Amino acid sequence: MPYRLDMNSAFHNPHSAFESLWRPYCQMKTASPPVEVESTDGVILRLKDGRKLIDGISSWWTACHGYNHPKIVEAMIEQAKTMPHVMMGGIVHDQAVRLASRLAKCLEGEGNRVFLSDSGSVAVEVAMKIAMQHWANRSSTGRTARNKFISFQNAYHGDTTGAMSVCDPDDSMHANFKGFLLEQFPQPIPENDELEAAFDSFVDQRKDQLAAVIIEPLVQMAAGMRFHSSAALRRIERVCRKHDVLLIADEVATGFGRTGSMFAYQQADIHPDIMCVGKGLTGCSVGLAATIATAKVYEPFHSDRWEAALMHGPTFMGNPIACAAANASLDLFESDPRFEQVSAIERVMRDGLESLVDCENVVEVNVLGAVGAVRLKADLDVGVAVSGFVEEGLWIRPIRDTVYLAPAFTIGEEDLVKLCDAVCQYVKLDSRGECSSPSPPAPTP
Ligand SMILES: *Cc1c(COP(=O)(O)O)cnc(C)c1O
Repeated sequence: MPYRLDMNSAFHNPHSAFESLWRPYCQMKTASPPVEVESTDGVILRLKDGRKLIDGISSWWTACHGYNHPKIVEAMIEQAKTMPHVMMGGIVHDQAVRLASRLAKCLEGEGNRVFLSDSGSVAVEVAMKIAMQHWANRSSTGRTARNKFISFQNAYHGDTTGAMSVCDPDDSMHANFKGFLLEQFPQPIPENDELEAAFDSFVDQRKDQLAAVIIEPLVQMAAGMRFHSSAALRRIERVCRKHDVLLIADEVATGFGRTGSMFAYQQADIHPDIMCVGKGLTGCSVGLAATIATAKVYEPFHSDRWEAALMHGPTFMGNPIACAAANASLDLFESDPRFEQVSAIERVMRDGLESLVDCENVVEVNVLGAVGAVRLKADLDVGVAVSGFVEEGLWIRPIRDTVYLAPAFTIGEEDLVKLCDAVCQYVKLDSRGECSSPSPPAPTP
């Protein structure tokens, strides 16, 4: 039985050597000991005990070119030799200037502005501050009542307090802070006419309080790969335009090719006013994020009044090593066939995973770009699942009720098939064999 916890295996060493390290999203008293990784290469995590794992989830979806891409490593080393860091107050440097001019083109239109920061959560905080101050700067008093945000059920926008306030409020991850967080307006994603009408009237009634609507386009990845349609994004945009509310696309997870286009919003043909990027930006090397605003959003900040300036400036914003890594990563998107690779991954995952819809324990199977997800009827025991996958030489870490793959775009077909087979085996074991097979691939949503 591959998916049983083996308490005697080295993986479950009861004498924790990790006492001082406070691990994320983890009840450390009861959790299995972490996997000790010594080095990474391509799609491989090499463990301290010599085992190798094929990585199916690319370090929270960041390793778009695989680990240790030589071009990115080289760019970082070169930059570290010349200038590892310099403050951005009153100073600019080539790597940041070049990166900003490239990221500015990621939204339509001329004159877009790019604010660099160090993590996706901060990029969201900055987006929220920009949205609120946009309205304040436009008013004759310099103040605004438009300081609330609409976000959506199952949303995840980060772990800092502003970002937490736009996450799903009943989400177990941030539920402990209910009452402390700012209250925003979580809404269902308007997937049909009725929901759009309700969304429209909700926005209409509160437009004087609203700064912006924020959404993760096409896939709410951290919630466990919840998908919605391009049509829903167009409905949201329509309502935002009708009532003159800003639209923020949080592409921290979906950006840089993950869903098959450079950014997910492009598939819906919508036009966000502000976009947040992070995660894949540096090709899995070092923390960096950016908030990109259109000229329209930026315009009221451009003023003779000092108070109209954006008051934000993380110490390590625009870190030169991080910017060099991001520029090298963007070069790889230009020189290498990443989008063909993503389409190939999508095909393999459709073939490999879609027949699982016939299992009685499966709610849905979704594949889009380099994201493939199988949602089960019940939450699964993540620790047990992970240790089972590790025994098979694979790194797959489900989220709640969802087993998913989000591999590096450079993964070879053989490795990807192994990952898909392991997901199938896990799901079929979980269903106690109650899958009707063989079956033709299911129609895709
Ligand atoms: C991961 C994530 C964030 C937060 O990014 P961090 O770098 O972890 O702070 C924000 N939004 C989305 C959609 C994310 O997936």
